Amino acid sequence: MLLLMIERGLPIDLVLTADTGMEFPEMYRHWDRVEQYLFQKCGLKLTILRHPKGFEWLMFDEPKTKLSSLENRAMLGVPPYGNGWPGVKVRWCTGQLKTHLLRKEVNRLKGEYHALHYVGIAADEPDRIRQDQYPLVEWGITEQQALQICYAHGFDWSGLYELYGRCSCWCCPFQRIGELRTLRRHHPQLWAHLREMDSRALSQFGHTPLGQFKKDWTVEALERRFAYEEQNGIRIPPERKKKRNWRNR
Ligand code: SF4
Repeated sequence: MLLLMIERGLPIDLVLTADTGMEFPEMYRHWDRVEQYLFQKCGLKLTILRHPKGFEWLMFDEPKTKLSSLENRAMLGVPPYGNGWPGVKVRWCTGQLKTHLLRKEVNRLKGEYHALHYVGIAADEPDRIRQDQYPLVEWGITEQQALQICYAHGFDWSGLYELYGRCSCWCCPFQRIGELRTLRRHHPQLWAHLREMDSRALSQFGHTPLGQFKKDWTVEALERRFAYEEQNGIRIPPERKKKRNWRNR
């Protein structure tokens, strides 16, 4: 969206994104490249919003104060701090690390200036449309076409989108098993970090929803499964990439 906005001469005063702190290293390099491009074309820098304490503090350390939450935790036998793994019912991460930060900043800017908020939602994601400006929707550009436009301009995320169907947090429990297999193979250091996080989650929250990485799977059990496949030469064909469902990430 940004590339086309620049090419079509739309006014740009600020470019906002949110960093969960758990982005792939390739994504950080991509942001550096975008920033260079943006500076060259518009004299602007990227504004990257971050939660002051970050993902792991929220997951393991955030103190809980609400009575209902304290009672619930006492019942489950888990400590009164830390949110545990994000789950389908409590996806605390998206709100705390992305949407609240962006919404707060956008509302501040809208209050201070007569600002328009352009959002890079594609034409084939109509269920994500709210009340902002959606140039890609207006121009009828799909997610796939947007990706091709980025590639044509030399922005390729160092191949990240060739490996994964989604490129948000590498530790996301909503990833498919195939993506986790790819993480282990292509990003072994991140995989090692994920194993540590899950082991910490299990010792802090036990086998409760807060300590559950994925239904029926701990990261350690996945490690054993993937290692077994590898040792026995079991080739799992790469999953056909499904359409990314950004709403669930
Ligand atoms: S990518 Fe996953 S872990 Fe990261 S904020 Fe989104 S839902 Fe949460």
